[in-house]
Amino acid sequence: MQQRTHTCGVLRSEHIGQQVTLVGWVRTRRDHGKLVFIDLWDREGITQVVAQPGVSNGANAVARTLATESVIAVHGTVQARPPGTEHPVLATGHIEVLAHKIEVLNEARRLPFTPDDHHPVDEMLALRYRYLDLRRTAMLQNLRLRHRAVKIMRDFLDAAGFLEIETPILTRSTPEGARDYLVPSRLHKGTFYALPQSPQQMKQLLMVAGVERYFQIARCFRDEDLRADRQPEFTQLDLEMSFVDQEHVLTLIETLITRLVRDVAPHKQLLTPFPRLTYAEALARYGTDKPDLRSEMPRATPNLLAFAWVIDFPLLKWDIQNGRWASEHHPFTAPKAEDLALLESAPGAVRANCYDLVCNGWELGSGSLRIHTRELQLRILRLLGYSSERAQANFGHLLEALDHGAPPHGGIAIGVDRLVALLADAESIREVIAFPKNRHAVDMLLNAPTPVEPEQLATVHIRIARAPDKRFT
Ligand code: ASP
Repeated sequence: MQQRTHTCGVLRSEHIGQQVTLVGWVRTRRDHGKLVFIDLWDREGITQVVAQPGVSNGANAVARTLATESVIAVHGTVQARPPGTEHPVLATGHIEVLAHKIEVLNEARRLPFTPDDHHPVDEMLALRYRYLDLRRTAMLQNLRLRHRAVKIMRDFLDAAGFLEIETPILTRSTPEGARDYLVPSRLHKGTFYALPQSPQQMKQLLMVAGVERYFQIARCFRDEDLRADRQPEFTQLDLEMSFVDQEHVLTLIETLITRLVRDVAPHKQLLTPFPRLTYAEALARYGTDKPDLRSEMPRATPNLLAFAWVIDFPLLKWDIQNGRWASEHHPFTAPKAEDLALLESAPGAVRANCYDLVCNGWELGSGSLRIHTRELQLRILRLLGYSSERAQANFGHLLEALDHGAPPHGGIAIGVDRLVALLADAESIREVIAFPKNRHAVDMLLNAPTPVEPEQLATVHIRIARAPDKRFT
């Protein structure tokens, strides 16, 4: 195969007369009598190819047989489109390539649907053939936008002195309030790793290690009942800083988000500085701790991203089902110093150094200053109903680390999928994740989860007590 000379998005009038080779996929084929027109696309754009009998009979004959989405190479000459047939909206709309030779690199057969932004496809079908769905211009744009957004995060945090550090995926449970995904151990019979609900404890331990500023584009796993905008695995911009107060974290994130919006979605408007509401104010004014500030504005523009901070969350909430106090956020969140005296006498009145970032009614992130002394951590665990033995068994490693020179620290985690969905005007986070699961936590493309062979189960010392669900049999 001859190498391409240009992508499908770059040819302009100044290329007229040049010999070029393009490669790509056949988006559409239009037979106009003897003339055949092909819209050839790749990720950079679309170029019109014309195969004219007489100029090159071979190319014309091949063009007539081309099926949509087949992969081809076109060798030809760039020419001006005849006056009146230009397509000004298309970047390449003033030219076309007169084909001399068309090579079919791989014919596409029996497509379940043609990827096209104008004809919606049933979502289950789209997920089953996600690689076709991703060929839609809108989806490619979303992937690009996500790439740019994440790159800006990385560059911004790098410039601010953060180190990007990977933390384990095979780990042990950390309490973020959801169920864990478990991975059985082969080497240690009857034991399990948990996939991280967040890197919470690891990032705190990195602060004890003296890293001072950590971040990670972290995959998190939570086995929750799925709501419209939840995925069993999702991505967070996770960060942690030592020797900071709440103001540092809020200002850092506000600067980062403002830069992100300016760069990847400049048509969006922001309320700056981000308004701040206490948890109590949010409930009183909006009836929720995820307020949509636009609901109080007489004329909010459709392009407004109404970011806001909700601060001063209560530290604890009463768990009616179990008749005890539970963390509002997670058990490592520091109470406000001025409320410490109430901890045992009026636990429900204690506020936390905890903050949520919300936008247009979505919770985009949350974070807190952390407990950095063993005594206070033990006091909180006790309030949450942990006996000394259970506290030691579950959090001994952390309690120990807090005794080994833990600096004051705090951080936050921002939901990357949701943030990118807002920037991309996507209705669902599934539109900004390359291979999402469906609403039932099923990967439609790979058909996961699946039953496994009995031998594989035996290797990890597991016996299945009940037959798999019907959909697998
Ligand atoms: N680990 C927390 C979460 O995932 C965020 C944080 O406190 O930094 O919600």
